[in-house]
Amino acid sequence: MQDLQNTNQANSSGAALNLFLPAMSKALITSFSKKLIAWHGLHGRAGLPWQNNLDPYAVWVSEIMLQQTQVATVLERYPRFMKRFPTVKQLAAASMDEVMAEWAGLGYYSRARNLHACAVQVVERFAGKFPNDPVLLEQLKGIGRSTAGAIAAFAFHVRAPILDANVKRVLARIFAIEDPIEEKAVNDRLWNLAGELLPSQAKDMPTYTQALMDFGATWCTSRGPVCLSNNHQCPFSKDCQANLSDQVLILPRKRIKAKSPEFNCDMLLMRSGNWVLLQKRPSKAIWGGLWSLPESSWSARAGARTNDLQSQELFALTLPDSLAPQSLKTTEPLKRGPQIKHVFTHRRLWMQIWELSVAKPIEWGDADLQWVSLRQLGQYGLPQPIKVLLQGLSLIRDGV
Ligand code: SF4
Repeated sequence: MQDLQNTNQANSSGAALNLFLPAMSKALITSFSKKLIAWHGLHGRAGLPWQNNLDPYAVWVSEIMLQQTQVATVLERYPRFMKRFPTVKQLAAASMDEVMAEWAGLGYYSRARNLHACAVQVVERFAGKFPNDPVLLEQLKGIGRSTAGAIAAFAFHVRAPILDANVKRVLARIFAIEDPIEEKAVNDRLWNLAGELLPSQAKDMPTYTQALMDFGATWCTSRGPVCLSNNHQCPFSKDCQANLSDQVLILPRKRIKAKSPEFNCDMLLMRSGNWVLLQKRPSKAIWGGLWSLPESSWSARAGARTNDLQSQELFALTLPDSLAPQSLKTTEPLKRGPQIKHVFTHRRLWMQIWELSVAKPIEWGDADLQWVSLRQLGQYGLPQPIKVLLQGLSLIRDGV
């Protein structure tokens, strides 16, 4: 067991924390974990397949999958992933394509690439055993400081704090932290506060950490915290500064965001009988490592494309320069397909699909450009909107 709440990562001093907190909050710091653990006994989530598990591999997979994915989806996909890759060694030995295919549909594909890279690191650097020190865990691919804290707390009972978006919201409300939480100084202070709030007994760390996650996700929610309804009595209602000062829906404050930029691109859906042309995306791009339709570079959106394209123009836009598909014999003219809008976290993309049938697949001589049989399409890791498109065109079915 370790006590890592005051590692060198917590770069605010105790004095800074005292300046940061009003005097009336200090009594709450000592009672916070007890109140939260008591709340969890009555209202926390129980029976989730990754709970009460001391296997750091299982904890790690669940923590990564739960980032940006709803619990209901994880409940369906987590058992499947664990069945497919039951140990960190089996995950490390799998190909990236196998991992991407298993992850398809969960979104935020850098998580899958990082899972695979991290598994390789654990095998190569730690002989297949996850370290219990959150500082070492944080050095692994795709594991941030909060996830490192969660793995250390759940699997090794280490006194390490977590600070995800839900926890930031809870702390900002209870302790009336009024500055935007994206600011580095505020973030540093929140980490320090999260460390101060830990239970004194290491054995309580799994329950406390789960309770903090559950409280933020189910009771002190962003839009409907329980103190604004008459359904439940929040255990912190008499201490919570946001509640006492009527600022519950105002805190935490966020920086005002600029509008997400929008982009257009053209996509080539080329078929030849029961084959469709797919291109593997570069690993560092959006949907990196997944297989998609060949696409043009993105341009700033200026309304929908109104002009029609000729097939040679489209080839020049979507296929690598080195390939010269003049010899392709089309069986029908290029057809304008649907336009699909996809919203990413920080941008929106409008994809204009162009459908083309050719007499026979030609050999491209490029490993990242492949004709894939329709029967095997379901085994490829595809971006979700492309998968939905191909399903809509009856080219792919789930489980095929
Ligand atoms: S009183 Fe409201 S805002 Fe404060 S912790 Fe409870 S649910 Fe959250």
